[in-house]
Amino acid sequence: MKTYKVKGILQQKGWLSNPFVTIDSNGKITKIHSSGTSDEDIDGYLLPGFQNAHSHAFQYAMSGLAEIHTQRSYKDDFWAWRHAMYEVALSVNPEQLESIASMLYVEMLRNGYTSVAEFHYLHHDDKGLPYTHISELGERLISAAKTAGIHITLIPIFYQKGGFGLPAESHQRRFLSKDVDDYFCLLEASAASIKHYKNAQMGFGIHSLRAADKNSMERIFKEGPTDAPIHLHLAEQPKEVTDCVDFYGERPAQWLLNRGVLNERFHLIHCTHLNPQEVKGIAASQAQVILCPTTEGNLGDGIFSLKVFQNQGGKWSIGTDSQINLNPIEELRILDYGQRVKTHNRAQFTSEHKRDAGNFWRTEKS
Ligand SMILES: [Zn+2]
Repeated sequence: MKTYKVKGILQQKGWLSNPFVTIDSNGKITKIHSSGTSDEDIDGYLLPGFQNAHSHAFQYAMSGLAEIHTQRSYKDDFWAWRHAMYEVALSVNPEQLESIASMLYVEMLRNGYTSVAEFHYLHHDDKGLPYTHISELGERLISAAKTAGIHITLIPIFYQKGGFGLPAESHQRRFLSKDVDDYFCLLEASAASIKHYKNAQMGFGIHSLRAADKNSMERIFKEGPTDAPIHLHLAEQPKEVTDCVDFYGERPAQWLLNRGVLNERFHLIHCTHLNPQEVKGIAASQAQVILCPTTEGNLGDGIFSLKVFQNQGGKWSIGTDSQINLNPIEELRILDYGQRVKTHNRAQFTSEHKRDAGNFWRTEKS
Protein backbone atom coordinates (compact mmCIF):
# COMPACT_ATOMS: atom_id res chain seq x y z
CA MET A 1 0.00 0.00 0.00
CA LYS A 2 1.39 3.37 -1.01
CA THR A 3 -0.04 6.90 -1.03
CA TYR A 4 0.82 9.39 -3.75
CA LYS A 5 0.08 13.08 -3.98
CA VAL A 6 -0.72 14.08 -7.58
CA LYS A 7 -1.59 17.39 -9.23
CA GLY A 8 -5.05 16.27 -10.25
CA ILE A 9 -7.31 13.30 -10.86
CA LEU A 10 -10.19 13.12 -13.34
CA GLN A 11 -13.28 11.54 -11.81
CA GLN A 12 -16.90 11.07 -12.84
CA LYS A 13 -17.81 14.51 -11.52
CA GLY A 14 -14.79 16.30 -12.95
CA TRP A 15 -11.27 17.23 -11.86
CA LEU A 16 -10.11 17.01 -8.25
CA SER A 17 -7.00 19.08 -7.51
CA ASN A 18 -4.03 17.91 -5.43
CA PRO A 19 -5.55 14.66 -4.09
CA PHE A 20 -3.84 11.92 -2.11
CA VAL A 21 -4.30 8.56 -3.85
CA THR A 22 -3.71 5.27 -2.08
CA ILE A 23 -2.86 2.26 -4.27
CA ASP A 24 -2.64 -1.36 -3.06
CA SER A 25 -0.03 -3.94 -4.03
CA ASN A 26 -2.17 -5.06 -7.02
CA GLY A 27 -2.12 -1.54 -8.45
CA LYS A 28 -5.74 -0.82 -7.49
CA ILE A 29 -6.80 2.58 -6.18
CA THR A 30 -8.29 1.96 -2.73
CA LYS A 31 -8.77 5.53 -1.53
CA ILE A 32 -8.82 9.08 -2.87
CA HIS A 33 -8.66 11.77 -0.21
CA SER A 34 -8.10 15.50 -0.08
CA SER A 35 -5.61 15.50 2.80
CA GLY A 36 -3.08 13.14 4.33
CA THR A 37 0.56 12.24 4.04
CA SER A 38 2.14 11.01 0.85
CA ASP A 39 4.88 8.46 0.34
CA GLU A 40 5.71 10.16 -2.95
CA ASP A 41 4.66 13.34 -4.78
CA ILE A 42 4.00 12.96 -8.49
CA ASP A 43 4.22 15.97 -10.79
CA GLY A 44 1.38 14.80 -13.00
CA TYR A 45 -2.30 13.96 -13.43
CA LEU A 46 -4.27 10.72 -13.23
CA LEU A 47 -6.87 9.78 -15.85
CA PRO A 48 -9.18 6.76 -15.85
CA GLY A 49 -7.96 3.85 -18.00
CA PHE A 50 -9.01 4.14 -21.64
CA GLN A 51 -11.05 1.51 -23.42
CA ASN A 52 -9.74 0.36 -26.78
CA ALA A 53 -12.93 -0.58 -28.59
CA HIS A 54 -11.41 -2.03 -31.78
CA SER A 55 -8.21 -4.01 -32.27
CA HIS A 56 -6.82 -6.57 -34.73
CA ALA A 57 -3.79 -7.84 -32.80
CA PHE A 58 -2.02 -9.59 -35.71
CA GLN A 59 -1.84 -6.31 -37.66
CA TYR A 60 0.69 -5.03 -35.11
CA ALA A 61 3.20 -7.22 -36.97
CA MET A 62 2.87 -5.05 -40.10
CA SER A 63 2.47 -1.71 -38.39
CA GLY A 64 4.51 0.80 -40.41
CA LEU A 65 5.51 -1.72 -43.10
CA ALA A 66 2.94 -0.43 -45.58
CA GLU A 67 4.33 3.12 -45.46
CA ILE A 68 6.43 3.11 -48.62
CA HIS A 69 6.61 6.48 -50.32
CA THR A 70 7.89 5.58 -53.75
CA GLN A 71 6.55 5.61 -57.31
CA ARG A 72 4.51 2.49 -57.80
CA SER A 73 2.64 0.91 -60.66
CA TYR A 74 -0.56 0.40 -58.67
CA LYS A 75 -2.88 2.68 -56.74
CA ASP A 76 -1.91 2.80 -53.05
CA ASP A 77 -5.30 2.78 -51.36
CA PHE A 78 -7.27 0.81 -48.74
CA TRP A 79 -7.69 -2.16 -51.10
CA ALA A 80 -3.94 -2.37 -51.86
CA TRP A 81 -3.15 -2.12 -48.13
CA ARG A 82 -5.65 -4.91 -47.51
CA HIS A 83 -3.64 -7.25 -49.75
CA ALA A 84 -0.48 -6.52 -47.74
CA MET A 85 -2.47 -7.25 -44.58
CA TYR A 86 -3.65 -10.60 -46.01
CA GLU A 87 -0.01 -11.60 -46.58
CA VAL A 88 0.73 -10.99 -42.90
CA ALA A 89 -2.43 -12.82 -41.83
CA LEU A 90 -1.30 -15.87 -43.82
CA SER A 91 2.14 -15.92 -42.26
CA VAL A 92 1.42 -15.83 -38.51
CA ASN A 93 1.41 -19.07 -36.51
CA PRO A 94 -0.24 -19.48 -33.07
CA GLU A 95 2.98 -18.95 -31.08
CA GLN A 96 3.79 -15.83 -33.09
CA LEU A 97 0.27 -14.47 -32.65
CA GLU A 98 0.57 -14.85 -28.90
CA SER A 99 3.96 -13.08 -28.90
CA ILE A 100 2.72 -10.25 -31.13
CA ALA A 101 -0.43 -9.78 -29.03
CA SER A 102 1.48 -9.94 -25.72
CA MET A 103 3.81 -7.15 -26.78
CA LEU A 104 0.95 -5.17 -28.28
CA TYR A 105 -1.18 -5.40 -25.13
CA VAL A 106 1.74 -4.37 -22.91
CA GLU A 107 2.23 -1.33 -25.16
CA MET A 108 -1.49 -0.54 -24.95
CA LEU A 109 -1.30 -0.64 -21.14
CA ARG A 110 1.83 1.49 -21.14
CA ASN A 111 -0.02 4.10 -23.20
CA GLY A 112 -3.11 4.12 -20.96
CA TYR A 113 -5.53 1.57 -22.43
CA THR A 114 -6.71 -0.82 -19.73
CA SER A 115 -9.15 -2.86 -21.81
CA VAL A 116 -9.23 -4.03 -25.40
CA ALA A 117 -12.00 -5.31 -27.68
CA GLU A 118 -10.32 -7.81 -29.99
CA PHE A 119 -12.19 -8.07 -33.29
CA HIS A 120 -10.91 -11.53 -34.04
CA TYR A 121 -11.28 -13.05 -37.51
CA LEU A 122 -8.01 -14.98 -37.88
CA HIS A 123 -9.41 -18.39 -36.94
CA HIS A 124 -7.80 -21.19 -38.99
CA ASP A 125 -4.37 -22.50 -39.99
CA ASP A 126 -2.51 -21.29 -43.09
CA LYS A 127 -4.31 -23.83 -45.26
CA GLY A 128 -7.66 -22.55 -44.04
CA LEU A 129 -8.34 -25.67 -41.95
CA PRO A 130 -9.65 -25.46 -38.39
CA TYR A 131 -7.12 -26.14 -35.62
CA THR A 132 -7.76 -29.29 -33.57
CA HIS A 133 -8.75 -26.91 -30.81
CA ILE A 134 -11.01 -24.63 -32.85
CA SER A 135 -10.57 -21.53 -30.71
CA GLU A 136 -6.78 -22.00 -30.67
CA LEU A 137 -6.02 -18.49 -31.90
CA GLY A 138 -8.68 -16.83 -29.73
CA GLU A 139 -7.21 -18.64 -26.75
CA ARG A 140 -3.76 -17.31 -27.69
CA LEU A 141 -5.18 -13.78 -27.55
CA ILE A 142 -6.71 -14.46 -24.15
CA SER A 143 -3.39 -15.81 -22.96
CA ALA A 144 -1.58 -12.71 -24.29
CA ALA A 145 -4.05 -10.43 -22.48
CA LYS A 146 -3.50 -12.39 -19.28
CA THR A 147 0.29 -12.10 -19.64
CA ALA A 148 0.03 -8.36 -20.20
CA GLY A 149 -2.66 -7.83 -17.55
CA ILE A 150 -5.13 -6.02 -19.81
CA HIS A 151 -8.90 -6.67 -19.76
CA ILE A 152 -10.08 -8.23 -23.02
CA THR A 153 -13.35 -8.70 -24.86
CA LEU A 154 -12.76 -11.48 -27.38
CA ILE A 155 -15.05 -11.00 -30.37
CA PRO A 156 -14.89 -14.01 -32.72
CA ILE A 157 -16.08 -12.74 -36.09
CA PHE A 158 -18.19 -14.38 -38.79
CA TYR A 159 -16.53 -14.06 -42.20
CA GLN A 160 -17.84 -15.79 -45.28
CA LYS A 161 -17.64 -13.81 -48.55
CA GLY A 162 -15.08 -12.01 -50.72
CA GLY A 163 -17.42 -9.09 -51.35
CA PHE A 164 -21.14 -8.51 -51.98
CA GLY A 165 -22.37 -11.67 -53.72
CA LEU A 166 -18.80 -12.87 -54.31
CA PRO A 167 -17.14 -16.08 -53.12
CA ALA A 168 -14.31 -15.73 -50.63
CA GLU A 169 -10.81 -15.38 -52.08
CA SER A 170 -8.03 -17.87 -51.37
CA HIS A 171 -6.04 -15.41 -49.23
CA GLN A 172 -9.07 -14.96 -46.96
CA ARG A 173 -9.08 -18.68 -46.11
CA ARG A 174 -7.96 -18.32 -42.50
CA PHE A 175 -10.96 -16.10 -41.71
CA LEU A 176 -13.85 -18.17 -43.03
CA SER A 177 -16.68 -20.00 -41.33
CA LYS A 178 -18.37 -22.66 -43.48
CA ASP A 179 -21.79 -21.53 -42.32
CA VAL A 180 -23.58 -20.10 -39.30
CA ASP A 181 -23.62 -23.45 -37.44
CA ASP A 182 -19.86 -23.66 -37.88
CA TYR A 183 -19.56 -20.11 -36.50
CA PHE A 184 -21.76 -20.92 -33.51
CA CYS A 185 -19.39 -23.85 -32.71
CA LEU A 186 -16.51 -21.36 -32.76
CA LEU A 187 -18.41 -19.11 -30.37
CA GLU A 188 -19.01 -22.04 -28.04
CA ALA A 189 -15.32 -23.00 -28.05
CA SER A 190 -14.33 -19.36 -27.51
CA ALA A 191 -16.70 -19.12 -24.53
CA ALA A 192 -14.75 -21.98 -22.95
CA SER A 193 -11.43 -20.24 -23.77
CA ILE A 194 -12.29 -17.01 -21.95
CA LYS A 195 -12.75 -19.00 -18.73
CA HIS A 196 -8.93 -19.16 -18.52
CA TYR A 197 -8.78 -15.48 -17.58
CA LYS A 198 -10.96 -13.67 -15.08
CA ASN A 199 -10.68 -10.35 -16.95
CA ALA A 200 -11.91 -11.79 -20.26
CA GLN A 201 -15.40 -11.60 -21.71
CA MET A 202 -17.06 -12.37 -25.02
CA GLY A 203 -18.68 -10.50 -27.83
CA PHE A 204 -19.66 -11.67 -31.30
CA GLY A 205 -20.06 -10.11 -34.69
CA ILE A 206 -19.91 -10.07 -38.46
CA HIS A 207 -16.92 -8.69 -40.34
CA SER A 208 -19.02 -6.39 -42.55
CA LEU A 209 -22.03 -6.50 -44.84
CA ARG A 210 -19.66 -7.26 -47.73
CA ALA A 211 -18.26 -10.34 -45.93
CA ALA A 212 -21.51 -12.20 -45.17
CA ASP A 213 -24.71 -13.09 -46.97
CA LYS A 214 -28.10 -11.75 -45.95
CA ASN A 215 -29.51 -14.99 -44.53
CA SER A 216 -26.44 -15.66 -42.42
CA MET A 217 -26.45 -12.13 -40.99
CA GLU A 218 -30.14 -12.30 -40.16
CA ARG A 219 -29.69 -15.65 -38.46
CA ILE A 220 -26.70 -14.44 -36.40
CA PHE A 221 -28.62 -11.34 -35.28
CA LYS A 222 -31.60 -13.52 -34.34
CA GLU A 223 -29.94 -16.58 -32.83
CA GLY A 224 -26.62 -15.18 -31.54
CA PRO A 225 -25.97 -14.67 -27.81
CA THR A 226 -28.58 -12.38 -26.26
CA ASP A 227 -26.35 -10.86 -23.60
CA ALA A 228 -23.16 -10.00 -25.51
CA PRO A 229 -22.07 -6.96 -27.53
CA ILE A 230 -22.26 -7.23 -31.33
CA HIS A 231 -19.49 -5.70 -33.46
CA LEU A 232 -19.52 -4.94 -37.19
CA HIS A 233 -17.44 -2.86 -39.64
CA LEU A 234 -20.01 -0.59 -41.26
CA ALA A 235 -19.05 1.86 -44.01
CA GLU A 236 -15.31 2.48 -44.17
CA GLN A 237 -14.79 3.05 -47.88
CA PRO A 238 -16.94 4.73 -50.58
CA LYS A 239 -16.60 1.59 -52.76
CA GLU A 240 -18.14 -0.47 -49.97
CA VAL A 241 -21.18 1.79 -49.97
CA THR A 242 -21.63 1.81 -53.76
CA ASP A 243 -21.14 -2.00 -53.94
CA CYS A 244 -23.80 -2.39 -51.23
CA VAL A 245 -26.21 -0.12 -53.14
CA ASP A 246 -25.57 -2.11 -56.33
CA PHE A 247 -26.22 -5.41 -54.56
CA TYR A 248 -28.97 -4.64 -52.02
CA GLY A 249 -30.31 -1.34 -53.37
CA GLU A 250 -29.50 0.14 -49.95
CA ARG A 251 -26.49 1.69 -48.28
CA PRO A 252 -24.93 -0.41 -45.43
CA ALA A 253 -26.28 1.70 -42.54
CA GLN A 254 -29.63 2.04 -44.31
CA TRP A 255 -29.78 -1.76 -44.72
CA LEU A 256 -29.35 -2.27 -40.96
CA LEU A 257 -31.71 0.55 -40.02
CA ASN A 258 -34.44 -0.69 -42.38
CA ARG A 259 -34.32 -4.10 -40.70
CA GLY A 260 -34.76 -2.57 -37.25
CA VAL A 261 -32.02 -4.71 -35.75
CA LEU A 262 -29.87 -1.97 -34.20
CA ASN A 263 -29.89 -1.38 -30.46
CA GLU A 264 -27.47 -0.47 -27.68
CA ARG A 265 -25.67 -3.83 -27.99
CA PHE A 266 -24.40 -2.93 -31.49
CA HIS A 267 -20.93 -1.43 -31.93
CA LEU A 268 -20.48 -0.08 -35.45
CA ILE A 269 -16.89 0.40 -36.53
CA HIS A 270 -15.92 2.94 -39.21
CA CYS A 271 -19.15 4.86 -39.68
CA THR A 272 -17.22 7.00 -42.10
CA HIS A 273 -19.66 7.25 -44.98
CA LEU A 274 -23.10 7.95 -43.58
CA ASN A 275 -25.74 10.33 -44.90
CA PRO A 276 -27.57 12.63 -42.44
CA GLN A 277 -30.54 10.24 -42.14
CA GLU A 278 -28.22 7.38 -41.24
CA VAL A 279 -26.38 9.48 -38.63
CA LYS A 280 -29.73 10.35 -37.08
CA GLY A 281 -31.00 6.76 -37.26
CA ILE A 282 -27.91 5.30 -35.60
CA ALA A 283 -27.99 7.91 -32.81
CA ALA A 284 -31.69 7.13 -32.21
CA SER A 285 -31.04 3.36 -32.19
CA GLN A 286 -28.56 3.76 -29.27
CA ALA A 287 -25.99 1.74 -31.22
CA GLN A 288 -22.42 2.78 -30.41
CA VAL A 289 -20.09 4.13 -33.05
CA ILE A 290 -16.41 3.12 -32.90
CA LEU A 291 -13.99 5.54 -34.52
CA CYS A 292 -10.36 4.70 -35.33
CA PRO A 293 -9.11 8.12 -36.46
CA THR A 294 -5.45 7.25 -37.05
CA THR A 295 -6.23 4.14 -39.09
CA GLU A 296 -9.06 5.90 -40.92
CA GLY A 297 -6.63 8.69 -41.80
CA ASN A 298 -3.83 6.30 -42.70
CA LEU A 299 -6.05 4.32 -45.07
CA GLY A 300 -7.61 7.41 -46.63
CA ASP A 301 -11.09 6.41 -45.46
CA GLY A 302 -12.76 9.72 -44.63
CA ILE A 303 -14.10 11.63 -41.63
CA PHE A 304 -17.24 10.80 -39.64
CA SER A 305 -19.80 13.51 -38.86
CA LEU A 306 -19.09 13.35 -35.14
CA LYS A 307 -20.48 16.74 -34.15
CA VAL A 308 -23.87 16.05 -35.75
CA PHE A 309 -23.96 12.56 -34.22
CA GLN A 310 -23.02 13.85 -30.78
CA ASN A 311 -25.65 16.61 -30.93
CA GLN A 312 -28.25 13.90 -31.51
CA GLY A 313 -27.16 12.00 -28.39
CA GLY A 314 -24.97 9.49 -30.24
CA LYS A 315 -22.45 7.47 -28.23
CA TRP A 316 -18.97 6.74 -29.50
CA SER A 317 -15.59 5.34 -28.54
CA ILE A 318 -12.12 4.95 -30.08
CA GLY A 319 -10.08 1.99 -31.27
CA THR A 320 -6.50 1.34 -32.36
CA ASP A 321 -7.59 -0.94 -35.24
CA SER A 322 -4.41 -1.43 -37.36
CA GLN A 323 -2.17 -0.58 -34.35
CA ILE A 324 -0.19 2.24 -35.94
CA ASN A 325 -1.01 4.50 -33.00
CA LEU A 326 -1.34 3.10 -29.49
CA ASN A 327 -1.64 6.40 -27.67
CA PRO A 328 -5.26 7.28 -26.75
CA ILE A 329 -4.48 10.96 -26.23
CA GLU A 330 -2.98 11.24 -29.72
CA GLU A 331 -5.91 9.25 -31.10
CA LEU A 332 -8.34 11.77 -29.61
CA ARG A 333 -6.27 14.69 -30.87
CA ILE A 334 -6.32 13.28 -34.41
CA LEU A 335 -10.06 12.74 -34.09
CA ASP A 336 -10.50 16.34 -32.94
CA TYR A 337 -8.30 17.77 -35.69
CA GLY A 338 -10.13 15.77 -38.35
CA GLN A 339 -13.39 17.29 -37.14
CA ARG A 340 -11.85 20.78 -37.23
CA VAL A 341 -10.68 20.24 -40.81
CA LYS A 342 -14.10 18.93 -41.82
CA THR A 343 -16.18 21.65 -40.14
CA HIS A 344 -13.78 24.63 -40.29
CA ASN A 345 -14.42 25.13 -36.56
CA ARG A 346 -12.23 24.50 -33.53
CA ALA A 347 -13.13 22.42 -30.42
CA GLN A 348 -15.70 19.79 -31.38
CA PHE A 349 -16.03 17.83 -28.18
CA THR A 350 -18.80 18.47 -25.71
CA SER A 351 -18.02 18.04 -22.03
CA GLU A 352 -20.31 16.95 -19.24
CA HIS A 353 -17.79 18.43 -16.79
CA LYS A 354 -17.50 21.98 -18.05
CA ARG A 355 -18.09 23.62 -14.69
CA ASP A 356 -15.80 21.30 -12.74
CA ALA A 357 -13.07 21.70 -15.34
CA GLY A 358 -13.48 25.49 -15.11
CA ASN A 359 -13.04 25.34 -11.35
CA PHE A 360 -10.01 23.16 -11.74
CA TRP A 361 -8.26 25.49 -14.15
CA ARG A 362 -9.10 28.54 -12.06
CA THR A 363 -7.56 26.82 -9.03
CA GLU A 364 -4.49 25.87 -11.05
CA LYS A 365 -3.92 29.33 -12.41
CA SER A 366 -4.38 31.16 -9.09
ZN1 LIG B 1 -11.18 -3.25 -38.12
